[in-house]
Amino acid sequence: MARNTDPSCKQCRREGEKLFLKGARCESDKCAMERRPYAPGEHGRGRIKETEYLLQLREKQKAKRIYGVLEKQFRRYYGKASRQQGITGENLLFLLESRLDNVVYRGGLASSRKDARQIVRHGHIVVNGRKVNIPSFQVKVGDVIEIKPKSKEMVRVLQAVRFAEGRPIIPWLKVDSDKRRIEMVALPKREDIELPVKEHLIVELYSK
Ligand code: SF4
Repeated sequence: MARNTDPSCKQCRREGEKLFLKGARCESDKCAMERRPYAPGEHGRGRIKETEYLLQLREKQKAKRIYGVLEKQFRRYYGKASRQQGITGENLLFLLESRLDNVVYRGGLASSRKDARQIVRHGHIVVNGRKVNIPSFQVKVGDVIEIKPKSKEMVRVLQAVRFAEGRPIIPWLKVDSDKRRIEMVALPKREDIELPVKEHLIVELYSK
């Protein structure tokens, strides 16, 4: 399965802001954006002319990097979002937020989306009692996501649960971290999704 193999910190430096791709490290002073807050490469510190196209492109790249989605799949999400009722940009974010790997991360069972994707791929997750190992699986309202009994005490899960203790509550998820259980109780609203992404610029880019 194709995935983005670019180093995580390089991706943040390219976007010029913290995308929180590495869990606990992102909160520490080891974060590359704290040490080298400029784009990677020889011309990283040079001035770049900010065209409209560049701004739109950057927003799209940022969203792709945050959710760990490649171009082809991201376009498919956009296509689906544009066919749904409502605001296309918001629909796009809702589709991305409902991915199983994102829900596992948001619910505090993984310390980053990348970690969540691996937990899902390795078959540690059950949805409504059935094993699901597809990170892009779309979670629906009422779905219950749990860690398999044998995997509940995995070190990475214990670390993630501890790491998630101080994180804000996600209103559209009901989380029981002791039972390692997440229930999607509502669809996310735009104000519930705290992301540094201006989705209308992505829509502008794709509708050209
Ligand atoms: Fe980005 Fe996290 Fe790396 Fe900092 S530590 S640059 S937030 S991935």
